[in-house]
Order: sequence, then C-alpha cells, then structure tokens
Amino acid sequence: MEIMIDKKNNDDIKIKSQQIVEEIKNGEKQLEEIQNSCRHPHEEIYVKDIKPEAGSCQYRKVCGVCGKAVGYPSQEEIKNAVGGTGNPTE
Ligand SMILES: [Zn+2]
Repeated sequence: MEIMIDKKNNDDIKIKSQQIVEEIKNGEKQLEEIQNSCRHPHEEIYVKDIKPEAGSCQYRKVCGVCGKAVGYPSQEEIKNAVGGTGNPTE
C-alpha cells in the first residue's frame, strides 16, 4: 500500500512541478513582451553586478524601469558605478 501512496505523491509532485514550469514559461514570455515594449530611457539605465554571488563580477547595463539587461558597460562606466570602494580595477 505504501508504494501506492508514494506513487500518488510522485504524481502530485509531477503535476505540480509541470504546472509551475508552465507558469514560469508564461511569466518569462510576459516579462519579455513587457520589456520589449519598454523604451529603456537613458536616464534610467544603471550599471549592476548581475551575479554578485558568483565571485567574479559580471556587470551589465540594466534598465531601471523594466529590469532588462540592455548592454555591457565600458570600463569607465563600471568605475563610475563601483566608485569609491578603494579597490580600483586596471
Ligand atoms: Zn526598460
């Protein structure tokens, strides 16, 4: 009988995880559509380390309105954004 309960439980997990994957896909699609409709105004663009947990910094230019990464900052722009950490990069 326990095997049956396990199977039922696994089926529940399977169905739920598939639903969530679908929801994520839908959400990502909606996010993409909304980000594509954004004009990414120049004054809202800022430089952000998109993977602060990764150890090595990965800077991107990010739109402050929609949150989309819109490009790569120059060394100068990174320096300005990081500024004053006492840790100048070459
Ligand atoms: Zn934008």
